[in-house]
Amino acid sequence: MTTTGRRRALGQHFLRDPGVTRAIVDVASLTPADLCVEIGPGEGALTFRLAQHAGRLLALEVDEALIAALRPRLASLPHVELRHADARRFEYTTLPALRPSPGGRVVVVGNLPYSVSKPILERLVEARTAISEIVLTLQKEVAERVAAAPGGKRYGALSVLTQLYCEARVAMTIPPGAFRPSPKVDSAVLHLKVLPAPRVSVADEGNFARVVKAAFGQRRKNLANALAGGLGAPVLMARQWLLDAGIDPVRRGETLSLEEFSRLNSFACPDPDGKMKGLKR
Ligand code: SAM
Repeated sequence: MTTTGRRRALGQHFLRDPGVTRAIVDVASLTPADLCVEIGPGEGALTFRLAQHAGRLLALEVDEALIAALRPRLASLPHVELRHADARRFEYTTLPALRPSPGGRVVVVGNLPYSVSKPILERLVEARTAISEIVLTLQKEVAERVAAAPGGKRYGALSVLTQLYCEARVAMTIPPGAFRPSPKVDSAVLHLKVLPAPRVSVADEGNFARVVKAAFGQRRKNLANALAGGLGAPVLMARQWLLDAGIDPVRRGETLSLEEFSRLNSFACPDPDGKMKGLKR
C-alpha cells in the first residue's frame, strides 16, 4: 500500500496546532502517579506532551512505519513505552498493574481515526473497571452523541450505554485546520470520567443493552412498536412492560432518561423460565 493509501486507511490526520495539543493534554490533568495510555501516537504530536506530565506512558500504534520513525525519538524517555498493538483488541484489564503508584489513575488519551473511533470507544467502556478517565478526539458529531442529554436527536444508544458508566462531556471542539491533512468535518474532545458504580441500577447489563438498542432501533416508531420490533416480542407485551414501568407506550426512545431505561429494563427483562420467548436474542 502507498503511504497515502495507508494514511487514509488508518485515519491519519496529524495534529499540527501546538495550542490544540496543549489544550487536549490539559484535559487529562495528568500527574506523576498516573499511567497514561495513548492510542495512536502517530508522529508524536501528543506523545511528548503527555510524557511530560504522566509518570508512565504506554503508546499503542498499529502502523509499523510510524513506530520505526517514533521509537528513536522516544529513546531518551525511559518512562515511555511504544507498543505495536491494535487498540480495538488490546487487553486493557492489564493496565492498573502498570501504574507508577497504586494511588494513580489510568488515563486513556487518543486522537482517534474516525473509522475505528466507535469500536475503540465501546471497547474502552467495556474495560471501564481498569480505566479512570478517557480523553478522546473524535468526529464532533460522535462526541456530541455520546454526551447528549435526553430529548434531542443526538441522544441514542451510544449516549445511554456510555453515560450509564461514565460522566461525559464535550471539552472542546477543534476545526479541521488543526490537522494535517485536514479532515472534512469538525472534531471534538470527549472527556469521560468512569463512575465508581453504574449511574442507575441494572440487574442484567446484557439485557439492558438489548432493550436500549431496540428502543432506538426504529426512531420513527413509538416505544411499544420499536421494542416489539427490536426484541421480537408481541406489541401488546411491549406495551405492558412500558405501562408497568410507568412509561407512556407512545413516547419515543429519545425521550427516556437513564432512570426510565433502568425501570423499563426490570420489566422487559425475560423471566428465568424463558416464558417470554424470542425476547433474549
Ligand atoms: N496522535 C497523533 C496526532 O494527534 O497527530 C496521530 C493521530 S491519527 C488521527 C490516528 C493514529 O492512530 C495514527 O497514528 C494511526 O496509525 C493510529 N491507529 C489507527 N488505527 C489504530 C488502531 N486500531 N490501534 C492503534 N492505533 C491506531
